[in-house]
Amino acid sequence: MSHLVDKLADLTGLRDRDALDLALVTAIHDLLQPQSAAIYRVVGEAGNERWLSTAQMNADQQTPTFDSAWSDLLTLPRLLDYPLRQQASTTRQMAQSCPFSGITVFPVSSNPGSVGVLEIATLEPLSQESSRLVSGVLRLYLNFQNLLDYGERDALTELLNRKTFDGAFLKATLAQQVSVDNASDERRDISYTGSFWLAMIDIDHFKSVNDNFGHLIGDEVLLLLARLMRVSFRFHDQLYRFGGEEFVVLMRCNGEAEAAAALERLRTNTESYLFPQVGSITISIGFSEIKTGDTPSGAFERADKAVYYAKEHGRNQVCSHAALIASGALVEQASNVGDMELF
Ligand code: GH3
Ligand code: MG
Ligand code: MG
Repeated sequence: MSHLVDKLADLTGLRDRDALDLALVTAIHDLLQPQSAAIYRVVGEAGNERWLSTAQMNADQQTPTFDSAWSDLLTLPRLLDYPLRQQASTTRQMAQSCPFSGITVFPVSSNPGSVGVLEIATLEPLSQESSRLVSGVLRLYLNFQNLLDYGERDALTELLNRKTFDGAFLKATLAQQVSVDNASDERRDISYTGSFWLAMIDIDHFKSVNDNFGHLIGDEVLLLLARLMRVSFRFHDQLYRFGGEEFVVLMRCNGEAEAAAALERLRTNTESYLFPQVGSITISIGFSEIKTGDTPSGAFERADKAVYYAKEHGRNQVCSHAALIASGALVEQASNVGDMELF
């Protein structure tokens, strides 16, 4: 019992949802000693969904492993190939193969749009007592995740809020180094050598949307734009609402052309979308590569200058800070003291 309490205390002591998944799997591993325990989440577009493991631990492992959030989608197992996981996530009930083949799957769905499962492999079917234990630990885990979401997500759009950005920025830049350091670990995707990019998205003439249609309709536009962002970017790109009508994307791309293409996809999706009552709206986007030793404020300053340029030159366009510097349209400023401050 005290062992269980210890495990639960470990879980709720965390503030990082990736670490939370690792702690959950470690707790199941220690409490039940199964052949393996793993959390899988559904990623990718409709029709090409895959399973990404956010935590996985076999009986002989001391510490859990996980798939890189930047994994190439095509290397991940297909959703359709795991009917038991699908069954658990769609019915929201525990699923066990019949006759028992060693696998028990529990649904783990937290925020809307996120589908996941906890899969436990055992030699014998899980006893009722063990199933209840797992369900109880899962309930606690989900309640705790909802609490984290409450603090870290924007209430209107459910995108991440500004608070989590600095941590994600540091983690993303570190992840790039780790993927090289872990070259011997075949579970990691090391073929992907892209760099990180920061984009700022600002709605054009949004004030007139509020003025003409009212604040509520304005809010609906923000909500629908967040949805367009979700379908325009890839699963591992991190989407934020920084407040007001300003959105931010932190993404990993193979070069400027790839980053520009992803942002252009959002721009055209937005331009061609018919917003109820309002009709069409446009957005201006500025982006910049995150450089070694960059601080969030330094990267933001560059993306912000590119947005400003887009606004000053007709709006409804995607501008790269580096391209504007290269063409002489913008003049690079020596980094100032402001760059040293954390955002
Ligand atoms: P542009 O960016 O093209 O220069 O013009 P704009 O009209 O979008 O520019 P500005 O940044 O001056 O105006 C932003 C407006 O966004 C001001 C405010 O009315 C509106 N706004 C900010 N936050 C919210 C929100 O949460 N909900 C709604 N409905 N409107 C918001
Ligand atoms: Mg603005
Ligand atoms: Mg605006």
